[in-house]
Amino acid sequence: QEQTLAMVKPDALKNFGAILGAVEAAGFTVGRLRMCQLTPAIAQGFYAVHADRPFFGPLTKFMSSGRIVAMELVAPGAIRKWRDLLGPTNSATARQEAPSSLRARFGSDNTRNACHGSDAPETAAQESAFFFNRSIGR
Ligand code: ATP
Repeated sequence: QEQTLAMVKPDALKNFGAILGAVEAAGFTVGRLRMCQLTPAIAQGFYAVHADRPFFGPLTKFMSSGRIVAMELVAPGAIRKWRDLLGPTNSATARQEAPSSLRARFGSDNTRNACHGSDAPETAAQESAFFFNRSIGR
């Protein structure tokens, strides 16, 4: 079994039910789950690796604009499996290349793309600790 950190971003919270359905249909177990609104500072911390990118400001503003749901998803090959379900980063690209993916179905563009998924075991562990081992918002 492997675990990944999934996040339902503010633009997709209204579709949380459908997203949880897709999570279950794909065979994941939900280990831990937390809903909260990130402060701008916490959103900046989560995306610190992108601090020098031009989209950092809009991204962290968006990520602190409403509630998110963070989930620890468990399955064999969970990291790859969840990213496959997400589709390409840009939701417009996802609609072209992976129309049944979550970003195609529930995202809008390159920033408002519905969901996040960890990209490696080390980041999955870090991101899980980020959400579940400390205070992160209101
Ligand atoms: P995530 O890490 O959220 O699963 P990802 O691995 O597909 O997404 P990253 O390159 O890690 O993409 O970027 C993190 C987030 O920053 C993206 O999910 C998206 O919201 C935003 N982002 C990435 N690239 C761009 C871009 N070129 N323009 C605007 N926003 C972007």
